[in-house]
Amino acid sequence: MSQILFGNHGPAAPSKTLRRGLIPIAVNVTATATGIIEFSNGSTAEATCLRCPSTPCMTFADSEVVSASLPEFPADRNPSVCPTGAITKTISGAPSVNPDACMFCGVCASRCPVGAIYLNPYAVVKDQPHPDFLETRDSKETAASFALFSSAARRGVFLEESDDVVDELRSRMERAWKTIGDRFPDHLARNLLIAAGVGAAMRRKGDVFARMDLVLGAPWPMYGCAEAEFGDVAVLDAPRDLLDDVAVSVGRLGKPTSLIALVVTDVLPNRRSEYWRIVQDIRKVVGLSIGTVTVLALCMIVWSGRRMRDLPNDLFHVDIDTPSYRQAVLEPLVGRPLRIGSEPRPSVDIAK
Ligand code: SF4
Ligand code: SF4
Repeated sequence: MSQILFGNHGPAAPSKTLRRGLIPIAVNVTATATGIIEFSNGSTAEATCLRCPSTPCMTFADSEVVSASLPEFPADRNPSVCPTGAITKTISGAPSVNPDACMFCGVCASRCPVGAIYLNPYAVVKDQPHPDFLETRDSKETAASFALFSSAARRGVFLEESDDVVDELRSRMERAWKTIGDRFPDHLARNLLIAAGVGAAMRRKGDVFARMDLVLGAPWPMYGCAEAEFGDVAVLDAPRDLLDDVAVSVGRLGKPTSLIALVVTDVLPNRRSEYWRIVQDIRKVVGLSIGTVTVLALCMIVWSGRRMRDLPNDLFHVDIDTPSYRQAVLEPLVGRPLRIGSEPRPSVDIAK
């Protein structure tokens, strides 16, 4: 049989479709357990992987990783959804996660319409037989089921912050950064921003067309730039770099009606650094509001299934006069006090 049809791995594994007549109306996700699907006939089922041929939990479509707002931006088209390489496709066609490599960012889970991936706290893929899901080799049937799930309501939260989750996230992120190298911050930031509903494209390594690490835009209603800088030294230059980025963008695109500039970082600069003063000065002098977004904050947006466009525009603008990142950004983000102890953490609190 043709290898064009089946690649080098023999016939494709069967995918799954819904039992005839079942229409999913809601997918309820929770931490620690697979999603529960509600159907229009009142029945429910545990989520199970459809084994989508295009595996959106693993792979971005090309249109997602280029900039719709700035098509000439030299985008790195790396399609990997998982920034740490923890998720792979098994012989059954379902993905599988290496728990040691997963940093529970939640990007893969956010892209599964069925709720077949949950975070406990690392990602787990459920691929069990269930009478409501029938095996098929007809990819059109799977695509039809995928479309039905994509229009179903999403409820629930994948993961909530806790001392252990925040500390482990930081430690796994640092390990991945050391292992993967200097492309990791841009890749992680891009993927989290896309999962948070922001069009984001990252610059191809070595390309000098544009300096910014990421361009932001459609389907987000604002155009912008971002610098992804990890480490308490590298982040200090990010506000000045963003000024440069904005000058380049405006030079190429003309002055947009709305423009946003974000620093995506793993740690918050301490209060004695000049970072927060520069952010304030830039706003006062040129009217550019720079947002400081920690990876933890982006993860919390993804874990809760929220979208950046639903958050207040200026939520992430923090400067020398902001008493607390926790109270000014993270708690409004989740709408409640954080479930994290008061001991300062560099992704939660600005150290003195
Ligand atoms: S985990 Fe979800 S998105 Fe990934 S292949 Fe299975 S059903 Fe599709
Ligand atoms: S939660 Fe994040 S790190 Fe873990 S497998 Fe999914 S995409 Fe990869």
